[in-house]
This record gives sequence, C-alpha cells and structure tokens, in this order.
Amino acid sequence: SLCYLNGEFGALRDMKVSVLDRGFLFGDGIYEVMPVYGRRIFRFDDHMARLARNLGKIRIPNPLSSADWLAASRRVIEAAAAEDQLLYLQVTRGVAPREHTMLPDLTPTVFMMTTPTRAATPEQRHQGVACITARDFRWERGDLKTTSLLGNVLARQMSADHGAVETILFRNGMLTEASSSNVWIASEGALLGSPKSEHVLEGIRYEVLRELCEEEGIAYNLRPLSEAEVRAADEVMLSSTSKEILPVTRIDGELVGHGAMRGKPGPVYARLYEAYQRAKRA
Ligand code: PLP
Repeated sequence: SLCYLNGEFGALRDMKVSVLDRGFLFGDGIYEVMPVYGRRIFRFDDHMARLARNLGKIRIPNPLSSADWLAASRRVIEAAAAEDQLLYLQVTRGVAPREHTMLPDLTPTVFMMTTPTRAATPEQRHQGVACITARDFRWERGDLKTTSLLGNVLARQMSADHGAVETILFRNGMLTEASSSNVWIASEGALLGSPKSEHVLEGIRYEVLRELCEEEGIAYNLRPLSEAEVRAADEVMLSSTSKEILPVTRIDGELVGHGAMRGKPGPVYARLYEAYQRAKRA
C-alpha cells in the first residue's frame, strides 16, 4: 500500500531509509498510531498534540505543520483499500554519523503508513480476554511514546507465549499499564485508572473515556491502584487505539470479578463499549 517518507509517496516495499538513521541505530524517535474509521481519523487533534509534546520532550523539531500532517495522512488513507485503518507515523532524529549526542541541525526522518484495522472479535468482546502480569521492568520514561520499544516488546511476548493478549505491569506493587495499552478497573460502578506519570503512557483514550464516563454518568477517577485491587476488581479493561476498549476476564489464569459476573465482561465495560462505538462514528 501507499506510504509516506520524507515528502514522497510510494509503495511500502519501495521505500528505503539510511542505515545511519538514528531510528535504526538508537530507536531515537517518536511515533503515533491513530484510529481511522470510515477514512476519518478519530481524535486527530489529540494525537497531534501528543506528538508535538513528545517531540518537544526529546528535542526533535516537529517537521510538519498540523495541516501538512493532515494532508499527508489523507493521501495515505485514501489510497488504502480498507475504510477502517490504523495510521502509523514516526519521526526519528534523522541520519547522522553514529554518535550518542544529538548533533545539531539534523533533518528528521518522517514516515507514515496505514494498515487495515484489526478490531476485537465478537468472541473477545463477549467472553473477554486473558492477560498475564509481570513486574514493570521497563525504564522510567514510560510517558514517552518512543520507537525504543524493546521493554514493551519483551513484555508483550511474555503474554503471547502464554496465549494471552496482554501483560499487565506493576511497579513496586502498583499498576502502571500494559505492554501496549492502558489498564482500567471498575469498582462499585466507577472507572479507575492509573494517574498520569513518567511510568505510564498517557493514552488518547484517557480523555476519550473520561468524556464517555461523563456522558454515561459513570464516576471516573485516576489514583494509584495496587496489584491486590486489580486482582480483586469487579471488572478489568484495556484501552488503546487498536483495542478501543476490551474486557479482561482472566488474569494469570484466575477469573476476574465476583458472583454471577465472575469471568464475564461487566456492565461498566458494556456501557463504555457502546458509547465508544457511537463516539467513533459521530
Ligand atoms: N500504553 C502503551 C505502552 C501503548 O503503547 C499504548 C498505545 O496504544 C497505550 C498505552 C494506549 O494509548 P492510546 O490510547 O493513545 O492508543
């Protein structure tokens, strides 16, 4: 399919980047993944704002204006076959002799591609998914949406090896997030999530879920959540661009929830799922 690289559009298989690109050598870059529904990007402005914040944090100048980002992404989206897509973009610091320091005046490498969306299956939505847990062994800058993803890759593979969809991570006994999603619990009808910190990527769905909770009259609260609270929660959910909102019904082989709802997706999930489906097409 058509992709974008440094101002040009071409077939994915034809586009090439220098072996001296700092993205290749150091993972020195920032990325975004945006959901596209009916060829429209959902929450484009929020993703652009996060991109700008992240580039600023690692001192890469934003190479395109918001209008140029939109124009380039439109062309990539229009050329793809699927109506619903995941739009991926990354900005690396650029091509330079290999040296750790940030040489001045580098030209960032800009890449964008799209893939068909892989929506949750009806089975995943109706039965929920399995997760495992691990100590959060990643670095102390989980707030950065960087292409340096080895910690996340290793964490995700642990769950894949167990036939689970995600690895929920705890740091000093407190929930941070999962390898490529944020984690939420429902307790007494309220939605609870980890506070924003340098250990958690601030997913765009933080704000989406806050708004949907407000609409639905569900209390929304960010506070430190212990491992014990997560394991004892009424409901556990994941959120991300690709997962939207997904119910977790097994953690380390134990069923989530209580009574008749044990091991089943719960009512808070059901309401937020429906609200999300409405919002994404609005
Ligand atoms: N946490 C991590 C580590 C992620 O990679 C992601 C990306 O999907 C998220 C959380 C969720 O963020 P978003 O809702 O912006 O997709």
